[in-house]
Amino acid sequence: MKEQVSIGVFGGSGFYQFGEDVKEVRMDTPYGLPSSNIFISTIEGKKVAFLPRHGVAHIYPPQEINYRANVWAMKELGVKYLFGPCAVGSLQQKNKVGDIVFCDQFIDRTYGRKDTFYHGPTTTHISSAEPYCPSLREMAFKQADILELSYHKTGTVVVIQGPRFSSKAESQWYTREGWDIINMTQYPEAMLARELEMCYINISIITDYDCGIAQQVKHLPLADIMTTFNNNISNVKKLLYGIIKDLDIHSTCSCHCALENARF
Ligand SMILES: [Zn+2]
Repeated sequence: MKEQVSIGVFGGSGFYQFGEDVKEVRMDTPYGLPSSNIFISTIEGKKVAFLPRHGVAHIYPPQEINYRANVWAMKELGVKYLFGPCAVGSLQQKNKVGDIVFCDQFIDRTYGRKDTFYHGPTTTHISSAEPYCPSLREMAFKQADILELSYHKTGTVVVIQGPRFSSKAESQWYTREGWDIINMTQYPEAMLARELEMCYINISIITDYDCGIAQQVKHLPLADIMTTFNNNISNVKKLLYGIIKDLDIHSTCSCHCALENARF
């Protein structure tokens, strides 16, 4: 029998477990298998599905992740609210290692990824003007204030194909454009969630400076970086618990009717 689960969380690098007394569920989708089994737990009286997007043992690099299967599996479980934490590099000095960014925009520099569920015959042009859920973002700001986190309410993430990192010239170009952070997984994950009318929020954890500005900033010892990163994973988990506690799983949001004006 299928679980009815309203909340979903994708784990990123360094984030492979969430919730206690988890029940492991194997899912299959029309798009193939998700990155791993899904781990379902109860948090604040609500069912939460957790899926590490790189697989439990981090076996799928960003360009090999089956994003459609991951997002579809969440939808099939009943998920309406989806959280996409991820590790990112900073492109601007003001975005410091250890800060959290709730992205409001992305720049897609990936290629060849399967990035839609809609191949006709019904033509579907979903809006990506505001890719991230406004309601979940407000809830996240509130929790970040309560936890006194160092965070940024907005940010543009450049999503590169990987697995290679940027060249210095590429990285400096992104910085000059004013873009904030860099990552390899936010596209197409965020848009696939929108295509299935789920609320989706990004929670980016800055782990380092990208190569274009790395020489301009003071370097921290690796041990300090690792400590900061582990503290931040812990903070993100606390943030998620807080939002889940506040979340009314019967609430409605504009994300839930994203297809209304997408078909002609
Ligand atoms: Zn929403």
